Amino acid sequence: MSAEASEYPEVVRVARDLIRFDTTNWGEGRSRGEREAAEYVGAYLEALGLSVEYYEPIPRRTNVVARVAGRDRSKPALVLHGHLDVVPAVAEDWSVDPFEGVIRDGLLWGRGAVDMKDMDAMILTSLAELLRAGEQPERDIIVTFFADEENGGVEGSQLVVRDRPHWFAGATEAISEVGGYSIPVGDRRAYLLQVGEKALVWMRLRATGTAGHGSRFHPDNAVTRLAEAVAALGRTSWPVELTATTRQTVAGLAALCGLDPADPDAVADATGPAAGFLRSTFRTTSNPTGLTAGYKHNVIPDAASATIDVRTLPGQEDAVLAQIQRIVGDDVVVEISHRDIGLEVPFEGALVDAMVQALGRHDPGIPVLPYLMGGGTDNKALAELGIAGYGFAPLRLPADIDFTGMFHGVDERVPLDALVFGQRVLTDLLRTY
Ligand SMILES: [Zn+2]
Repeated sequence: MSAEASEYPEVVRVARDLIRFDTTNWGEGRSRGEREAAEYVGAYLEALGLSVEYYEPIPRRTNVVARVAGRDRSKPALVLHGHLDVVPAVAEDWSVDPFEGVIRDGLLWGRGAVDMKDMDAMILTSLAELLRAGEQPERDIIVTFFADEENGGVEGSQLVVRDRPHWFAGATEAISEVGGYSIPVGDRRAYLLQVGEKALVWMRLRATGTAGHGSRFHPDNAVTRLAEAVAALGRTSWPVELTATTRQTVAGLAALCGLDPADPDAVADATGPAAGFLRSTFRTTSNPTGLTAGYKHNVIPDAASATIDVRTLPGQEDAVLAQIQRIVGDDVVVEISHRDIGLEVPFEGALVDAMVQALGRHDPGIPVLPYLMGGGTDNKALAELGIAGYGFAPLRLPADIDFTGMFHGVDERVPLDALVFGQRVLTDLLRTY
């Protein structure tokens, strides 16, 4: 073994290995593919004595699964899942090569360091710790790594769930990314455990008018009509509406920092860098993200379109769509290009208790609060099989790190000691649940 190989804990080395596979996903089927990363993961699992199955429904979009037999096979199985793809990184904007896996200042840098090759490594090395010690989990553990999560799982989890549902036979619960990490709350700290995801509606607004010369008096202008609709929707301030989950989030945070829970946005502001993403979980958001119109400076086009990224609270998609049509007016056509369900499961039950207790054993006295996530994960695909999904990638983080800003951000990085912490908490969970 070289000096370098033994220098860092295994969870760090595995996360770094995974970052070094460039699995960039540009979306809509344009991707480098996950095959080599999936084969690395498969080989790791095989070395633990597990039998591994691959599913590559589209060339290079590789998914991998293994099942660890539990002591009590009458108990429902638990799914641990990760994705192997990452969003693109523009290397010139970064302080380091985003695919080199640089370790500097006690942090692992690289695309995927927090989304989500960190958790992929924690899952693998937690299982390894158990199995190498000759231990068996209480229940069956299904460990899966998906392709294409960053494009909504269209070429990954959605196809696996459709074509390989037997991979998840007997499973009722799943754990994955975007939860379980600590945030600062005033001068204290709390962990956020993800128990729900907002619904996603991607839409295109289309306005039409009459084409003509740019020099004319011309009120029937598609660009003007579209611009008015885009501005109206982009400026819409959706009302705060708390769900069962976010009511608990706000109450817990308010109690920690001595604020009035009646003003959720003010409570969110006490969480420093986490405020923006928490605010988005209290309401619908409708952000314009793209505009398309015109082909010549002195030609009025007969059509113009815009893309809007809408995230609604779970179950409110249809009501929000009706409201959006009223906002943009009848002259503008609303076309849905992609929709995904919202999810919300109760913050209670044996698995939630086990996750909270596992965190408590490694970071005593720090409250764990449920939260709803603004984005989406592969938990949505697994929900089709009746599997309740949680975000639990435990990381104990310093107060000054803008962790939520790291997701898809420049200079994505994770503290090495947070990785080690997460691996210990996850191992503890597998031993006790
Ligand atoms: Zn992710």
